[in-house]
Amino acid sequence: MNCHDLDFNISRLGRCRIPSPLSGVRFVRNDERVLYPSDASAIEACVAEGKPLPAFEAAGPREQIYFDPSKLKCGIVTCGGLCPGLNDVIRAIVLSLFHHYGVATVFGFRYGYEGLTHRHGHRPLELTPRAVADLHQKGGTLLGSSRGPQDVSEMVDTLERMNVGILFAIGGDGTLRGAQAVTEEIGRRNLKIAVIGIPKTIDNDISNVQNSFGFETAVSEARTAVYSANAEAEGARNGIGLVKLMGRESGFIAAYASLAHSEVNFCLVPEVPFTLDGLLAALKRRIESRGHAVIVVAEGAGQDLVERPRETDASGNVRLGDIGIFLRDMIPARLKNLGMDVTLKYIDPSYTIRSMPANAHDSVFCLLLGHHAVHAGMTGRTNMLVGFWKNEFTHVPIPLAAFERKRIDPEGRLWSNVLASTGQPKEMM
Ligand code: ATP
Ligand code: MG
Repeated sequence: MNCHDLDFNISRLGRCRIPSPLSGVRFVRNDERVLYPSDASAIEACVAEGKPLPAFEAAGPREQIYFDPSKLKCGIVTCGGLCPGLNDVIRAIVLSLFHHYGVATVFGFRYGYEGLTHRHGHRPLELTPRAVADLHQKGGTLLGSSRGPQDVSEMVDTLERMNVGILFAIGGDGTLRGAQAVTEEIGRRNLKIAVIGIPKTIDNDISNVQNSFGFETAVSEARTAVYSANAEAEGARNGIGLVKLMGRESGFIAAYASLAHSEVNFCLVPEVPFTLDGLLAALKRRIESRGHAVIVVAEGAGQDLVERPRETDASGNVRLGDIGIFLRDMIPARLKNLGMDVTLKYIDPSYTIRSMPANAHDSVFCLLLGHHAVHAGMTGRTNMLVGFWKNEFTHVPIPLAAFERKRIDPEGRLWSNVLASTGQPKEMM
């Protein structure tokens, strides 16, 4: 898609007429923008054509706000899989609403979108600064999470009945599509309720968002697993260490973990197809020359090689075949047929990593994401998420982020760096 085709406009509930209660902060003007293209020639082309430069609205506190904090009630919901930093974001939103703006009532809806539907009977938590005081030290999510479709109309009934003015939805692509559906129903009813998304994807695969929270923590924890795999590989004759990491459709964690631990010899990601014969030939050469090898495989890699379950999960996401177990079993068996005995150790740290507390970098990132989400919500912006682009926090319309995935470009710089680090052949077909 050409960047001129992208719509960067953020929907608003109405004019901001209330002075912000914040003091001593740098307010962001409404015309501050973060440039979208990085490529100089793309910028020059825009200028030559006399077109406005494509850019995101800059996030941050505004001098005038839409909601009257003394009357405002807010809600927070977390959906989808666990990711380090969820609790940090919840805490940051509560503290910012309370301390920056003086909002007294924040509901924590339980177990994802289930908590917004009356029929499930989950009572929301009352989130106060005291209730979230130590939250950032814990992994998981205080609110619980869930998958599965919910009745959007019933969800908006709940928001209306509880007089919620801003809903903060923390979750992945599904959650954001759900948030958009909720916004549309709010619009049909002509209600003044803002919906602000905070993108949660451990895989870092949300489009038009440079970084998502939890990714850094995941890479640093993945490195520990790769370290063990390397020690196991070096400790055995013809040793192979195999680590399966997260990455359903995008292999960023596997790629960065391979760079972080540059003793990885093979990095397998969903974006770059390979055949078992191609991998085995390269692996055999590596073991013949060096006596051991480390392989990192993203969970969504090589899906054409494995049997895939027919069913989907409750939210309709396709279930993956287990490439880790497949390689664990096939590599020793097939190498034996080729006259090579190997010792393979398999490590799958996925659930350990997902439930970790955030590391220092992610904690900072989550805190600022939560603050920027609150600033955006207070101005009545809606159907948007807080993004991060060129090291600045941005406002991103949900349609720009939730319907296409960010993926590794096999011809791009990142993959070229991975190939240079692992030394694996560009093609293993
Ligand atoms: P993860 O990437 O970790 O799986 P996710 O947010 O993508 O996170 P899902 O389980 O796919 O997780 O979706 C979260 C919730 O959003 C589910 O309850 C799902 O039913 C709901 N949802 C997804 N798409 C829509 C939609 N178009 N309309 C309404 N709800 C939706
Ligand atoms: Mg998802």
